[in-house]
Amino acid sequence: MDFKDFQIYNGDLSKAMLETYLQTDAIAVDTETMGLLPQRDRLCLVQLCDGDDRVSVVRIDRGQTTAPHLKQLLEATQITKIFHFARFDITTLRHHLDIQVTPIFCTKLASKLIRTYSPKHGLKDLIQELEGVELDKSSQSSDWGNSMNLSAAQLRYAANDVRYLISARQKLITMLEREERLELAEQCFQCLPVFASLDLLQYQGIFDH
Ligand code: MN
Repeated sequence: MDFKDFQIYNGDLSKAMLETYLQTDAIAVDTETMGLLPQRDRLCLVQLCDGDDRVSVVRIDRGQTTAPHLKQLLEATQITKIFHFARFDITTLRHHLDIQVTPIFCTKLASKLIRTYSPKHGLKDLIQELEGVELDKSSQSSDWGNSMNLSAAQLRYAANDVRYLISARQKLITMLEREERLELAEQCFQCLPVFASLDLLQYQGIFDH
């Protein structure tokens, strides 16, 4: 895979990059954390990419509770935030940085709604099929806590996780429209903040019988 540039920020986006991102109507977002439980595991990185392939990697410090520029961007109602498995990312962003992300597009939910011919909805499988790109996930389970001294491989991995989401979303929208399932997808995305609330209260399976 080609190595492309990205910008690293400490604590928050620069004002200039915020202004640049605010010009767009869709932005890809991912997070890296110490683990899968927001109440236990801190947020270490927030990665962003716009439609012109401008990638930012924002390091979040231990104990940091606000990031005003990230908040302004992720809460901007005119910009769709694209995640793969948004449920986790919006929960950790709300818990650690008090950010209420909206509006949301989740490529994993969209994939599950439309790629019913496949059991594989992980980011690597999705990007392989839609973009023809093989993502290197070897740094997926690594120590993101030492965020001032991340390896080049970790940073490249973190940046690449957001590079293909905008294009993948377009292809998923085309498929959802063709099969008349786009409205259902939008309704699912609108439910995601409710799932985040339930997850933070540690409810499990309350819709089950
Ligand atoms: Mn990631």
